[in-house]
Amino acid sequence: MASNKRPASATDSEEYQGFIHGLSPIKISRTNSKYFDFTLQINTSNYKRVLSTTAKVMKIEIPKVQMLYGNPTNLQDIIVVDNTNQIRITLWDALVSSVQLDNTYNFENLSVRNFKNETYLTTTKSTKINRTEDLNNAVEYEATAAEIPTTIVGTVTEIKITQSYMCKSCTRKFPEILTEEKYNRCTFCQMLQKTENFVSCLTATLNVESEDEPEDNQPSKLTIFNTQINNFCTLNNKEELLKDHLKMEEFFLEETFAFNLFDNVVDSFTVM
Ligand SMILES: [Zn+2]
Repeated sequence: MASNKRPASATDSEEYQGFIHGLSPIKISRTNSKYFDFTLQINTSNYKRVLSTTAKVMKIEIPKVQMLYGNPTNLQDIIVVDNTNQIRITLWDALVSSVQLDNTYNFENLSVRNFKNETYLTTTKSTKINRTEDLNNAVEYEATAAEIPTTIVGTVTEIKITQSYMCKSCTRKFPEILTEEKYNRCTFCQMLQKTENFVSCLTATLNVESEDEPEDNQPSKLTIFNTQINNFCTLNNKEELLKDHLKMEEFFLEETFAFNLFDNVVDSFTVM
């Protein structure tokens, strides 16, 4: 990954004090400016490392919702390749759904993270993503093991179905609208619209106990998104469950299911 290639200047640089590790030789960027990479250790346990790169999007995963400081926050993993590497980038919040497959972008100010021996990048408040021309010599993309689906057959031990509303203008979701009002305003893009214009979205989080591995008493924590819930209800003549979330939760607790998963997100499911 190329490093942040903005030239240092007295006016727009942030100031940090710390120890520099892994200083690279000076490199020349494609725009002919000089730069180098390093890691700045601000205290003994925290590394702050920010970089920018031009990379092509090779894979886009389904957006997820994660609790962050007590608020449900949208995130989405993508896999990109640049001239030296293939790496995962986690897009947060407003940047979810901001890239398209096979397009190349300048990703500015990404933060470097390490978790379970994987180095990946995440967007920050100062990240900017802009479309650019294709790279000529990007590395070959390799599919990873996480892209092969797995199947769990088992029973649901706990479930919670939450409803949210998607604004068609900005595609962001939020937990509540005033359903009895004629109009509602999107809390993100501030666009006023008819209440029926908002798309109701269901998300199920559930714990599944596998039948195949009875001694493995760790239940799998799965997520089912709106499209898959809708598909299931339509294919199985269970549309009435879409209007009654408590009935739907109870239905899940009564049956044995086969869930096809990618990385704990359900891609499809059937009653056994
Ligand atoms: Zn909106």
